[in-house]
Amino acid sequence: SSGWIEVICGSMFSGKTEELIRRLKRAKIAQLRVEIFKPIADTRYHDEDIVSHNHNSIRSTPVNSAAEILLLAGDCDVVGLDEAQFFDDSIVEVCNNLANQGKRVIVAGLDMDFKGVPFGPMPNLMAIAEHITKVHAVCISCGGVAHYSFRKVANQSTVLLGESDSYEARCRACFQKEQKNA
Ligand code: ADP
Ligand code: MG
Repeated sequence: SSGWIEVICGSMFSGKTEELIRRLKRAKIAQLRVEIFKPIADTRYHDEDIVSHNHNSIRSTPVNSAAEILLLAGDCDVVGLDEAQFFDDSIVEVCNNLANQGKRVIVAGLDMDFKGVPFGPMPNLMAIAEHITKVHAVCISCGGVAHYSFRKVANQSTVLLGESDSYEARCRACFQKEQKNA
């Protein structure tokens, strides 16, 4: 039987990692064989664990490339992947390949960068997925529903690892207000 792809997307602090961990832990309870990966670039909290902002965690394998995931996924039933926005477009074919092998593939990642532009392979992953869950953060300015990750520091490179020291969840109105002031 064939597998499928689930995407969990949203801004920073929206609960993507929390939701990914929740689904993976339930798969483990169901005694499914689970393999979890994250890009080696993401070492914010821990070298190997995937850790959410509320300090929930699960063991993972850091990888350098999408191709490595294909090699290491072996004969597991469920593949989890966090911070998918940091992979190149080859992650799309890798996810298709894994799902075609019969695996359930659960992918979490930022759908937009700090400028509000679709992030890396995420749009294509969302296009090929059977299921997409968009989770939302709380706007730090007004308490509304946030779907942007506002960067509080001047650095303009697309990738800047950081936490609440460098990023803030913002709703559309509060994100725009700040863009104009910048
Ligand atoms: P993500 O992976 O999307 O960055 P996490 O799953 O790591 O998010 O963290 C979600 C948790 O972050 C929430 O459960 C909450 O405890 C915390 N949090 C901190 N700031 C916010 C915010 N502005 N909106 C929502 N949750 C926040
Ligand atoms: Mg996360």
